[in-house]
Amino acid sequence: AGRLAGKRCLVTAAAQGIGRATALAFAAEGAMVVATDRDVAKLADLKAPGLTTRALDVLDPGAITDAVAAMGEVDILFNCAGFVHQNTVLTATDEEWDFAFDLNVRSMWRMVKAVLPGMLARSRGTIVNMSSACSSIKGAPNRFLYGTTKAAVIGLTKSVATEYVTQGIRCNAICPGTVDTPSLGDRIAANAAVAGSVEAARAAFVARQAMGRLATAEEMAALATYLASDESAFVTGQAIVIDGGWTL
Ligand code: NAD
Repeated sequence: AGRLAGKRCLVTAAAQGIGRATALAFAAEGAMVVATDRDVAKLADLKAPGLTTRALDVLDPGAITDAVAAMGEVDILFNCAGFVHQNTVLTATDEEWDFAFDLNVRSMWRMVKAVLPGMLARSRGTIVNMSSACSSIKGAPNRFLYGTTKAAVIGLTKSVATEYVTQGIRCNAICPGTVDTPSLGDRIAANAAVAGSVEAARAAFVARQAMGRLATAEEMAALATYLASDESAFVTGQAIVIDGGWTL
């Protein structure tokens, strides 16, 4: 039996990047996975034993309620959806503020609120939230709203962990350095003009990690699997850094 045998897992933003790698890792460990994303077209080729896909825009409260109701029981929630604005305190707009907090923070609150009653009824549940090393842990240039919202994710994580620590619920956050995913490719393309070339923009992202490389989505999935599984039964409320030495 796998490390997540029989567990019912709900994963957001599972169409690509870390969410996709984690949905596949959970399924490979024997979980029953509902892999969700706003972009259903990109979910079409996500296939594995024990894994089903479903449309879920985490900005839609009714859709969250429906997805959780359809699953019945949720043992493991992986809140992965998030967006990286590239802005500063001077360039960020009110629209960007609202979007960043809605997607990166409020959606996690709504997801947790939807799964918690069932978890509490069974005295069992694990929640993993996607934060970043760029958060309350460290600042990064041109990441004003990103770092601000990802700091809030750590606060949310610790609040949930504290509230329910005696009731069988654990809640932890993952704080990555730079991970090679499709949206990183978009950020590299956006920075190419300033950096001089796509290669130079990519090299700047690589250089942030002391190890001199980007992380793979699979490396993030391995940590998520540990935090989801009973192997981490004594771990709660933690913001776990996995950053190739960015914060050294
Ligand atoms: P990505 O950014 O390449 O893909 C994001 C996915 O989220 C897409 O499939 C998209 O369709 C989906 N999505 C966007 N809005 C959504 C919504 N409203 N509802 C449901 N799904 C939605 O993936 P990634 O780079 O692996 O990032 C995933 C998470 O990891 C994010 O929270 C991100 O902030 C965090 N993170 C990423 C890195 C990195 O370097 N890539 C580093 C630290 C943290």
